[in-house]
Amino acid sequence: MSVRPPEPGRVGAEAAPPDAAPRRLLAHLRDIMAGSGAAQDRLDRIVQAIGAEMAAEVCSCYVVRPGDLLELYATVGLKLEAVHRTRLRVGEGLVGQIAATALPLAVSNAAAHPHFAHRPETGEDVYKSLAGVPIVRGGAVQGVLVLQNHQMRRFTEEEIETLQTIAMVVAELVAGAEIGLAANIGTTEGETLPARIEGRVICRGLAQGAAVLHQARLTVREVVADDPEREAARLSSAIDSMHEDIDRLFALTAEAGGGEQVDILETYRMFARDRGWITRMNESIRAGLSAEAAVKQVQDSNRARLEHVSDPYLRERLGDLDDLATRLLLHLAGRGSAGQDTALPENAVLIARSLGPAELLDYDRSRLRALLLETGSETSHVAIVARALRIPVMTNCFGLTDTVEPFDPVLVDAQNGQIFIRPSPDVLESFEAAQQAAQTDAAFFEEQRAAEAVTRDGVRIGLMMNAGLLIDLPRLEEFGADGVGLYRTELPFMVRSAYPDVPAQTVLYRKILDLAGGRPVVFRTLDVGGDKQLPYFEARKEDNPALGWRALRIGLDRPVMLRHQIRALLRASEGRPLKVMFPMVADVDELLAARHIWSIEWQRAQARGRAMPRSAQIGVMLEVPSLVFQLPALLRHVDFVAVGSNDLMQYMFAADRANPKMEKRYDRLGIANLNILRTIAETAGAADTPISLCGEMAGEPLEALALLGLGYRSLSMSPDSLGPVKAMIRSTDISKLTDFIGRALTGDRGSLRALLKAYARDHGIVVR
Ligand code: PEP
Ligand code: MG
Repeated sequence: MSVRPPEPGRVGAEAAPPDAAPRRLLAHLRDIMAGSGAAQDRLDRIVQAIGAEMAAEVCSCYVVRPGDLLELYATVGLKLEAVHRTRLRVGEGLVGQIAATALPLAVSNAAAHPHFAHRPETGEDVYKSLAGVPIVRGGAVQGVLVLQNHQMRRFTEEEIETLQTIAMVVAELVAGAEIGLAANIGTTEGETLPARIEGRVICRGLAQGAAVLHQARLTVREVVADDPEREAARLSSAIDSMHEDIDRLFALTAEAGGGEQVDILETYRMFARDRGWITRMNESIRAGLSAEAAVKQVQDSNRARLEHVSDPYLRERLGDLDDLATRLLLHLAGRGSAGQDTALPENAVLIARSLGPAELLDYDRSRLRALLLETGSETSHVAIVARALRIPVMTNCFGLTDTVEPFDPVLVDAQNGQIFIRPSPDVLESFEAAQQAAQTDAAFFEEQRAAEAVTRDGVRIGLMMNAGLLIDLPRLEEFGADGVGLYRTELPFMVRSAYPDVPAQTVLYRKILDLAGGRPVVFRTLDVGGDKQLPYFEARKEDNPALGWRALRIGLDRPVMLRHQIRALLRASEGRPLKVMFPMVADVDELLAARHIWSIEWQRAQARGRAMPRSAQIGVMLEVPSLVFQLPALLRHVDFVAVGSNDLMQYMFAADRANPKMEKRYDRLGIANLNILRTIAETAGAADTPISLCGEMAGEPLEALALLGLGYRSLSMSPDSLGPVKAMIRSTDISKLTDFIGRALTGDRGSLRALLKAYARDHGIVVR
């Protein structure tokens, strides 16, 4: 893993801009587009003009049709009888490849290319070289524009760039409703029917309101411009006014003392000044586009790339650039930021394909009831900012922006991951009943805030919270949690654009301890790798990242990072107790190696006369099954153990926790799982080592009930679960429960879920 400096230009500068597009051709195309005649006729004239200007014997335009087919729509050079007859699947042949990847392609000998697909009806056999670019609009590939020549021609980069600029003009015609070519034209009838869409819950809750579509589709009217200097000046002044706007927002957020939000906005602000991005737009203007079209062209090519990028860092950056482009278009239209532009209803359900953190903060927060996104992960910047707003948030709501119309009534069930658009009266009625019940529950949990987490038969249960960001800490107070049972230190690393050095980490950890106000905090050392990549480290792609180089494995192979973290933790907790645990330990020797690194830092701090923590405890996360079979040996070297049931189950059942298809395959209340968890609790109990569980199952009242029955007396969970789990604890009699679970586990297969539910019902245990 080598350090990669934060490099905003990496994203913006990747595809070089078109800097030599013949403006004469663009002007000619604009005349054709604006002229009279049927769309097909204009498309025919366009391919003729392009072919002639670019010295190609063939110029063809393929258009995406429903069913992921590419149809030859117009050509000069290929046989005319192939038009509207030749069809390729997206991904088939070189043309299909261009559509599938959304990337240009140029080959001097097409037939020798492994993806070549022979289409004899077109008569293309005689043409050797081929260059093609995707026709992209609104981030979606609408078709492919292709040039071919007899000779083994080597297309230059400039020629490809010119072709990309031209493709943008063609995109306007291809997407024109008048020729009905757009691939995804929905029926108006479909739009008025009730619809249900599923998504992934990021922040739980129920909400109802009116749909507000973020930046109700901006259209670029003038694609080609005659006066590049004027367009460049317009772009420059729009960029200036956008910068002022973002600076204002940044200052406001910093003033409000906004923790990670400030880090996030700082990165965003830096990207707004990305030279690569601004250069690309200016070069598109020089090539003959209007300022708006130049912004849109760069935005479209970024969006097309976004579809194919899995690196979370790059996705986040491309997302930032996407938002900035939209912001810029609004400034070009003299309309300021998106949020201010919309007449926001009192109960807005904000809906977006993707959204930048700054965009979200533009909206009047008091009117936002929920946020629904088509893309974005739990650790995406916008999700983190939204968490601070305490509204229900869902992502992966695929197809939502195409289904919903502005001001449609929307019900958001961010408990079960469902969205109801234009709901029928009976759906609305049952949703309102659920909302009513949730309000009653919330009031009930609120009442219990000061009550102790003690069972009916007087057993005190440690009720801890999982956290990872400063914004989570105030919730510790809300339900009277005993402390932070799992502080995921990687999250603050992930939202920054640069590696936080020892002083920066010290400040952060000190703040966390201050906010915890004397309650214990268990810091877990960096659990990165796998799907959690840091923006500033170059990580090698792995075939099985969950089984790969991650967490403590990185810490042991690259001890400097681990040493820095331990050093900062020691400094931050001077005079206070410190608890640290290591993730993904698979072998006792690994723990011993980590302890060795710990003691080097401990001695270093002592030798320098630094104030030391008042006490220090070292623990491990038990999340790799191999450790279960070395527990007695392990327990001799640790002060406590925290079971990470999310990973433990992933590895036990060989079921990827990030794959939604695996989600329901194995029941956390299955006998195998519960037996392992019981063994762990019993072994730790026999050695008198404190044990807790901090995976997701601790936060589900029914699962937490089983854990109490297995012997767990300390649970750590996400803040939303604290109220419901406390209510369960306070209505449970542990001695009866332990007997019941013991008997139930003697069965040889299946899950205890149904049995436990019945038990809870019969014994008046609150599980909701
Ligand atoms: C776990 O694996 O159960 C756990 C709590 O850690 P994380 O979810 O951060 O991997
Ligand atoms: Mg884990």
